[in-house]
Parts: sequence; structure tokens; C-alpha cells
Amino acid sequence: MKNKTKKICVYCKSEEHLTVEHVVPISKWQEFGVKRRVLDNKSNRAWACMKCNSEKGSMSPAGWFKIHPEYKKNFIQQAKYLSDAVKKIIGI
Ligand SMILES: [Zn+2]
Repeated sequence: MKNKTKKICVYCKSEEHLTVEHVVPISKWQEFGVKRRVLDNKSNRAWACMKCNSEKGSMSPAGWFKIHPEYKKNFIQQAKYLSDAVKKIIGI
């Protein structure tokens, strides 16, 4: 039995070319009125495939989910460990 959770992209569920993604870009800490460390934190990190990560770039989650509404459901399933501060910014 494997006890490690399978890594998948939090957005499109791809298992390939996974990279560490900051769900809320760290550069936006002032815009969202939080301390930088709230975003530069493991509770704001997720696995994302290279395609999603580069397409999302420095978009806010709200903007990203507007373009890809189908990814929001996947994301919510995966995002249970995110801090409340991060969830509040994302609006979930
Ligand atoms: Zn992806």
C-alpha cells in the first residue's frame, strides 16, 4: 500500500511536469492587504503542472478561475490544507 498521496495538478489534475505553484502570487501581498509571509508560506503552495503554472503566471486565483471555471472544483477538492487567510483571498 502506498501511503503517499499521488501528486496531481491542483487545477487540471495532470500528473506530468509538476511544479510548485503559489496559489496567490506572493507579489500581490500588498494588494490583498496581508503580510507577505501569509503568501510566502506552504499553506499558499500547491502542485501545478507546468502548463497551468506558466499560463496562470501572476494572475490572482479569481482571474484564473474566471478563465478556467472548470478548474475551480478540482482546486477546492485539493485545497483543504490552505490557510483561512489564503482561502479568504481566493473566495472559497
Ligand atoms: Zn495543470
